[in-house]
Amino acid sequence: MANKQSAVIIGAGIGGITTAIYLAKNGYDVTVYEKNSSPGGRCGQMIRDGHRFDLGATMLLMPDIYRKIFNSIGVPLFENNSIKPLKDLYKIYFDNNEVITFSTDENKMKEQLEKIEPGSFKKSQKYVSAGYEIFQTGINKLIGRNFDNIFQFANFKNVGMLIKLKTYISNYRYVKKFFRNTHLRMAYTFQNIYVGQSPFDSPALFSMVPAAELTEGSFFPTGGMFSIVEKLLSAAHSAGVKFYYNMPVKEIRVKNKKAESVIFEDLSESKADIIVANADLPYVYRKLLPDRRKSRGLDRMKYSCSAICYHWGLDKVYPQLGHHSVFLSDGFRDGLDCIFKDKSVSDFPSFYVHAPTRTDSSAAPKNQDTLSFVVGAGHVDKMKKQDWDNLAKKTRNAVIQRIKQLGLEDIEDHIKFEICITPENWESTCNISKGSVFGSLAHNLLQMGYFRPHNQHSRYKNLYFVGGSTHPGNGIPNVLLSAKLTSERILNKQLN
Ligand SMILES: Cc1cc2nc3c(=O)[nH]c(=O)nc-3n(C[C@H](O)[C@H](O)[C@H](O)COP(=O)(O)OP(=O)(O)OC[C@H]3O[C@@H](n4cnc5c(N)ncnc54)[C@H](O)[C@@H]3O)c2cc1C
Repeated sequence: MANKQSAVIIGAGIGGITTAIYLAKNGYDVTVYEKNSSPGGRCGQMIRDGHRFDLGATMLLMPDIYRKIFNSIGVPLFENNSIKPLKDLYKIYFDNNEVITFSTDENKMKEQLEKIEPGSFKKSQKYVSAGYEIFQTGINKLIGRNFDNIFQFANFKNVGMLIKLKTYISNYRYVKKFFRNTHLRMAYTFQNIYVGQSPFDSPALFSMVPAAELTEGSFFPTGGMFSIVEKLLSAAHSAGVKFYYNMPVKEIRVKNKKAESVIFEDLSESKADIIVANADLPYVYRKLLPDRRKSRGLDRMKYSCSAICYHWGLDKVYPQLGHHSVFLSDGFRDGLDCIFKDKSVSDFPSFYVHAPTRTDSSAAPKNQDTLSFVVGAGHVDKMKKQDWDNLAKKTRNAVIQRIKQLGLEDIEDHIKFEICITPENWESTCNISKGSVFGSLAHNLLQMGYFRPHNQHSRYKNLYFVGGSTHPGNGIPNVLLSAKLTSERILNKQLN
């Protein structure tokens, strides 16, 4: 029998592990090297004193993409009722005590929306069905396919497609055509932050996010989002993939037009026929490859925002908070400007709270609570240096003052421990350029599709990329698609 082709994958994030499975199932001898002591990257987990935290992703959205990819690697995902649909997606709290519960229950939506703005329910249905159509067209024509040359992307036929995908108008301008009420406009656009963008600057293409949520629902796996990583890991082990942790790759050694091996801190080397970088693409060009010119070009591109995250283990349960809560400040626009222009955090930030025990009691000891807070923040910028530790303290205080208004007056007395992750921490723990955790590269039109850095190196043809910073983009559904598309390129065949 001919020797197996070998593949080395740099990074055990969702993108790296899924690609490893595709390749191993197609005859490759695959080895994954991960810098950290555990897998998952931005879908990682931490357990402390019986409190379980998802460190990054907390919402399983666009379940059809998960189904499709998991089916194609032969892993049943939605078996045994282990992934539950949430009745309500999230509660949105506004400064004037107005609350909207986003739900797939249309009657519930109608009752709430009509109270805020008569006639708005019909408008929301239009917004959602148009957004869902954008989502489906986007999957078929933009997100779910590889582009081999610019003409496949920028051609006469696609001009119509780009118009259909609402790439010519900002998301916030678009939503104004549907709702007069400012809170409704905020409620249907804040989801832009999931891909690290401001709805004032990103295309209305992203109206597909709330549309997909409200159409397909939001899910949560027993064991938290990390259980997705565990399922992938188990499939990878069964397919013969080898994993090595605490093994940061220091260099990708190249010769002529080939990537030959990866080099580690102790200068040991691992050779392979192909190399796949799941680590952040701009970081790989900057730190692991000799190509300085390309790296400088990547530095000039736009980057997504970052986040300050607080994870608390509490000795008391706060039932006022549902599984997912979103607090939108009246200073919505100023807050976004503060993030995207000043690369900082607003004094009155909008933020998100995750309370996983509402769906899965195993996330905290009995009668205790596990809460995570995510506050959008500017990315690390050399020209706009921030004292992130101080900003994190100030922001924590603002968050506490806001949630106290829900009747959680004594919450500070019940925090047993806290883990805080700043943009600088994201940069160092996962090697994400500028700590831009929702990208890293932004998702503006000129950085999407063919224009997003490609999943194959243009010179070293056996070097590939997978994950949020290459095509199609960030967020687990995109990263799963990225793994499929990169694997298709490597294997030179369509994977179903
Ligand atoms: C706060 C937050 C909330 C989010 N919420 C959601 C959500 O609700 N739903 C959703 O779908 N998505 C969400 N996301 C996005 C989602 O988590 C990411 O899109 C996804 O996990 C990225 O996977 P990846 O494989 O591209 O990269 P990563 O997870 O970053 O994996 C890359 C891996 O490479 C490793 N690595 C880096 N450099 C090296 C090196 N030199 N040598 C070896 N290994 C290296 C890293 O340690 C890491 O493990 C969220 C992200 C964040 C940060």
